[in-house]
Amino acid sequence: MNSNINWNFDNSYSRLPDSFKENIEPVKVENPELVIMNENLAKDLDLNFSNVDKAKLSALFAGNELPESSNSIAQAYAGHQFGHFTMLGDGRAVLIGEHLSKNKNRYDIQFKGSGKTAFSRNGDGRAALGPMLREYIISESMHCLNIPTTRSLAVVKTGEDVIRENCLKGAILTRVASSHIRVGTFQYIAARNKKDELRTLLDYVIRRHFPNIENSKNKATDFLKIVLEKQIDLVVNWMRVGFIHGVMNTDNMSISGETIDYGPCAFMDDYDPKTVFSSIDQMGRYAYCNQPIITKWNLARLAECLIPLIQDKQDHAIKDATDIINSFEKKYEEKWLNMMKNKLGLFGTDKNDKFLILDLLTWMHEKKNDYTNTFCYLMGEKIQENKNYEDINFKNWKLRWLERLKINNSSPEKYLKLMRSFNPSVIPRNHKVEEALDAANKNNFKPVIQLIEVLKNPYNKKKGIFEYQIPSVLKEKYQTFCGT
Ligand code: AMP
Ligand code: MG
Repeated sequence: MNSNINWNFDNSYSRLPDSFKENIEPVKVENPELVIMNENLAKDLDLNFSNVDKAKLSALFAGNELPESSNSIAQAYAGHQFGHFTMLGDGRAVLIGEHLSKNKNRYDIQFKGSGKTAFSRNGDGRAALGPMLREYIISESMHCLNIPTTRSLAVVKTGEDVIRENCLKGAILTRVASSHIRVGTFQYIAARNKKDELRTLLDYVIRRHFPNIENSKNKATDFLKIVLEKQIDLVVNWMRVGFIHGVMNTDNMSISGETIDYGPCAFMDDYDPKTVFSSIDQMGRYAYCNQPIITKWNLARLAECLIPLIQDKQDHAIKDATDIINSFEKKYEEKWLNMMKNKLGLFGTDKNDKFLILDLLTWMHEKKNDYTNTFCYLMGEKIQENKNYEDINFKNWKLRWLERLKINNSSPEKYLKLMRSFNPSVIPRNHKVEEALDAANKNNFKPVIQLIEVLKNPYNKKKGIFEYQIPSVLKEKYQTFCGT
């Protein structure tokens, strides 16, 4: 089945020392049935599934039939989960190999929900249909929002039940990532206290992701600086669209800077910096406003792992690493401010820009105004009647904003174009996602397909998608779960 699909595997991670992984094949499932496949992503990967019938596709994406050149493994990693260090690893996922596209881009192809591994601890190694489709919908939406993310190639039902609080339909997601190397991967190897293994990991990651620093004087510090920049860019993007990851444990932070692990994530409706959706995040550790703070905290955990590779004198190495970590705030502030200025169409700089931005956010918070739709309103897109915009404080703020827009010879064409490219007019609204998943659980996949379609090109104004743009009218608090 290899010949016409064009798989081109080169499984570099599986050639790393044994301690990095377990060699294991996906556990076969009873009755696989493909429910969704991402043709556009397949094209980007130079894969061709057009000559493969549905039964074969189902067997392939369930892991029942592996491509010839795959070499499947479960990756070892550790992680700080809600601040507590634990040894983890792929407990319900198997990396079947690394596919090289024609232009030699390297992609991990991973099955999530593919059965028990050496790292499963007490879990069953399986996943349910709802959470796998949820990851598919939201990760593809993130991609369309121009935010780095793992991608979703397919979902199959396994034909088996998975037992959670209720009995659910089992499913497997094919996840595509530039790699699955996490902060937690470094933590796992560092915890083994073998400097040669740590060096092997760092060299591997640099060759794979950051070859431009392969010959640098201090690879460990340069690596830390790059990962810090990438993570700042990522979290600024999350803040831009109101995305709340929900479980920013160090094992869920990818070294490549892609959003990974769509368990309890969700998008904020009305602006409230303390928004938390995850049922298990009772202290709000991963609340919207804490995301940059946690990003820095996670980077500090990465820095700790790298100490032995920075320099032999430990106190000097700690100082070098600390200096890099302490550059976080200033860099974040700058990038966040720029992003918010772009959302408001502001060119150039004015000393009051930050106040203008914060005053709008404070107003939004006080009035419980929808985050996404406030920016749509400012772009002249009235999604629904809303008396809040007649509020005198908002009107005064708007006058200040309009005055500011005149600086730097800006014109409505120019500032609207800028705003359009930073403010989505549609995001995956929580109730629409739930509606689609409910239907899918009853074997109607149309709402999922329709939702994915609506979420494509979110920066283009579209007609007739009103129902996807309004926040839920339900007053009860939306809650998400880890999806295990
Ligand atoms: P997550 O919350 O998805 O980031 O997962 C945290 C850890 O728990 C990872 O090591 C997962 O592989 C593992 N895990 C999650 N769900 C299961 C499951 N159903 N069976 C085995 N391991 C799991
Ligand atoms: Mg995870």
